Amino acid sequence: MSTEINVTLYCPICGQSDFECNDNKSYVKCNNCEREFHGGIDELAEFNHAEIENEVQKYGQALLDDFAKNLERKFKNNIHLKFKK
Ligand SMILES: [Zn+2]
Repeated sequence: MSTEINVTLYCPICGQSDFECNDNKSYVKCNNCEREFHGGIDELAEFNHAEIENEVQKYGQALLDDFAKNLERKFKNNIHLKFKK
C-alpha cells in the first residue's frame, strides 16, 4: 500500500500554487509573484505546515476507516458462512 501523501503547497505571499524549482528542490520560486524560497521545498513546507498536518490527519483517518470496513466485511462473511452450514 502506498503511504505517499500529496499536499498542494501554496505560496504564502500570493496564495498560488504555481512554482518552479531546481532538481533537488533546494530552491523554489513562485511563478506568480516571483517570491524566491532559498530554503527550497522545506521552507515552503514550513509555510504550509497547517495544511500538511491536515492532510496527514485526513489520511490517518482514512486508513482507520478502511481498516474498520475490512474488519466488518470479514466478520460478515464469517457469519454468512456459519449460517450456510
Ligand atoms: Zn507567490
